[in-house]
Amino acid sequence: MNYRVNEKGYYGDFGGAYIPEMLYPNIEDLRTCYLDIINSPIFQIEYQDLLKNYVGRPSPLYHAERLSKRYGATIYLKREDLNHTGAHKINNTIGQIILAERLGKKRIIAETGAGQHGVATATVCALKGLECVIYMGEVDIKRQAPNVARMKMMGATVIPATSGSKTLKDATNEAMRDWINNPVDTHYIIGSVVGPHPYPEMVSLFQSVISEETKTQLFSQTGSSQPDYVLACVGGGSNAMGMFYHFLDDENVQLIAAEAAGLGVNSGHSAATSILGREGVLHGSRTILMQTDDGQVIEPYSISAGLDYPGIGPQHAHLHKVKRVKYVAITDDEAMQACMLCSKLEGIIPAIETGHALAALENIAFKKTDVAVICLSGRGDKDLDTFMNYFKL
Ligand SMILES: *Cc1c(COP(=O)(O)O)cnc(C)c1O
Repeated sequence: MNYRVNEKGYYGDFGGAYIPEMLYPNIEDLRTCYLDIINSPIFQIEYQDLLKNYVGRPSPLYHAERLSKRYGATIYLKREDLNHTGAHKINNTIGQIILAERLGKKRIIAETGAGQHGVATATVCALKGLECVIYMGEVDIKRQAPNVARMKMMGATVIPATSGSKTLKDATNEAMRDWINNPVDTHYIIGSVVGPHPYPEMVSLFQSVISEETKTQLFSQTGSSQPDYVLACVGGGSNAMGMFYHFLDDENVQLIAAEAAGLGVNSGHSAATSILGREGVLHGSRTILMQTDDGQVIEPYSISAGLDYPGIGPQHAHLHKVKRVKYVAITDDEAMQACMLCSKLEGIIPAIETGHALAALENIAFKKTDVAVICLSGRGDKDLDTFMNYFKL
């Protein structure tokens, strides 16, 4: 089975570049040169140097002894929460900012929902001294004031999206419009494995450092580079693609992706795309998305802002369809309890997004000899208000 992208930008039935004609030159420009740039020694030297000395990689692979005891298996946490800015998103923005420089771009735009990708983008723009414009829904700007402040401190301009529901999808539309109007000097940094080809492939390449390191670290700690299970949470799907990337062809490694069920899959307040979604086009690629019978996007819901997305990346749609990855739905309550358990047993407060991956451990019938690796995609500092309200702390 082939899980990789083909030369037309498709993963099986999914992917492609469904874009307005006016965006065609931008996307075509990127598509024709991204691999040559990324594979060039000059790019790789700078990328590896920044991952090591700025982001703090390799991130540890930590044997979580008390979680292991609790679940009756050997459990490892891949600590993306220890990266600079507190999550995996920086792996992608570091890669894309170097690419933008090589392409001669002077100005960076990005969309953001909860603000995590906006912060990771503002960070690398400050690092490189490039102009940074972040589009963010007006509603999200009010909900995520600390992240807006972070972006501003690092010199970014935050522009409110005031149309529609004033959230992520509206910010995405505004960013697209900006890019159409500024095709020559501007690079658009997309924050997950979504969007038109080559974005899903490019972002998964930048995130694949997660599974590359994991294999080496696991080998030195256990004598084998292949665990029995690999788990990650899925919003758009970038930390999961990074965590799965180098395990895709190891067919005896079971890959499990945790989606947000919100208040319950059938509650009307959910983001469990692989169960509730149907095939269609979202943000420039053919994928699975939550939509009404006449094709309107359904507003998703999750307690974690990072999983609150109505689609999944096209490669995930393919991996779901061919059953290489098992997609499970985790409710708000299950994720919150898993965050509390990890905090109490390991002294690690994870992001609520990550809590969904941790909660998926509950439903696996482990053998004592099993080894499982979980992508700890981010730290929970940003979620402290939500924890305080939920647990009445
Ligand atoms: C943004 C985010 C996610 C979800 O995004 P993916 O592209 O699905 O990885 C998950 N965890 C954390 C900590 C995040 O910030």
